Amino acid sequence: MPSNKIVVVGAGVTGLTTALLLSKDSSNDVTVIAKHMPGDTDIEYASPWAGASYLPFGAKGSQNAEYEQATWPPLRDLAQNNPESGIHFQDITVQNRLKDQQTVTGKWAAELTSSSPWFKDLMPNFRNLPADQLPPGIDNAQTFTSVCINPAIYLPWLVTQCMKGGCVLKRAVLSHIADAADAHHSGVKADVVVNCTGLGSRKLGGVTDGQVHPIRGQILMVRNDPGSMTTISGSDDGSEEVAYIFPRAAGGGTIIGGTYQKDNWDPLPDPNFANRIMQRALKLDPRLVKPGQGVEGLDVIRHGVGLRPGRTDGVRIEKDQVNGVKIVHNYGHGGFGYQVSWSCAEKAARLVSEILLQKDRAKL
Ligand code: FAD
Repeated sequence: MPSNKIVVVGAGVTGLTTALLLSKDSSNDVTVIAKHMPGDTDIEYASPWAGASYLPFGAKGSQNAEYEQATWPPLRDLAQNNPESGIHFQDITVQNRLKDQQTVTGKWAAELTSSSPWFKDLMPNFRNLPADQLPPGIDNAQTFTSVCINPAIYLPWLVTQCMKGGCVLKRAVLSHIADAADAHHSGVKADVVVNCTGLGSRKLGGVTDGQVHPIRGQILMVRNDPGSMTTISGSDDGSEEVAYIFPRAAGGGTIIGGTYQKDNWDPLPDPNFANRIMQRALKLDPRLVKPGQGVEGLDVIRHGVGLRPGRTDGVRIEKDQVNGVKIVHNYGHGGFGYQVSWSCAEKAARLVSEILLQKDRAKL
């Protein structure tokens, strides 16, 4: 009988990956509780809106870069061995304009758009494009092979893997993180609660982290498939507007974006942004439509907006204690939650093990 009672709060990519890793230890008995579950679409639930690509943004030597580096092997292996998880390999071309260096999107993508990023030896087939192959206005460009994830398949796949490991999933809306300890499916008080509530950590009682903020991303999903991914450092449409094209795995359509609007909570797709996103996407990769076509050649499935769970000081993964309840936090993954998911979940699971070890020692 598993003896460790654990409640994971949150069923986005962070909560589900953390629950999955915890469930691999047969002494753990894991409940996942969340307001939103895979299949839901809600502005407060970031995971379904993601591209979701693996494009490292973490600066050289930073903790984010470490998280990204350590998450590449599991994502690569899933694309290789478990295509049913909704992950496929995709080549990407990254274009850089030096004039974007000081813009919001240019700073965000500085490492990604560098001609010599830390991941140049990590990503398969990395190469800089020769100067005579650069599109007009582009100062440098790189190509490599990465992955693109279809969250509509990947999130349910994570659920099935969690269930195989014995996790029980339940709907619940918490007003205080300590209340999660009473939500374990066994009815016994949980030994540890893992907080994976993303943007919810801003308002959740016992956490109320003022560093957590939304970074609005507006996107379109289209049926058109250009055959590979493309992105660029910025645009001439404004500091917070950029262009990217991510064909998702397994018939998931192609995500074209987007915006990177800090502290903007607007849940409704703005038609002006949508128009500019389509124009930029066509400029970035004309293969999206047939020769001679304009935006009318885009076959739109839906418009959408997601709020990236940003955090001023970066991801928070640490132990805490609230009202006597042992907590491990794992939230604040901004626009990179998928590409750090496995390493952040591993770190959170390690902290849970440390707490459980202390509990066992206290019993001796
Ligand atoms: P969420 O997915 O938001 O999940 C939070 C969970 O906590 C939900 O289940 C919610 O219901 C639950 N919850 C919150 N509060 C409570 C409460 N009080 N009680 C109970 N449950 C609660 N990342 C990448 O790696 N690659 C990309 O290409 C990429 N593209 C993106 C594009 C867009 C447009 C957007 C919006 C995001 C993108 N991201 C990308 C970022 C990525 O989506 C997020 O970092 C990631 O989804 C965060 O996951 P999470 O599980 O931490 O949070």
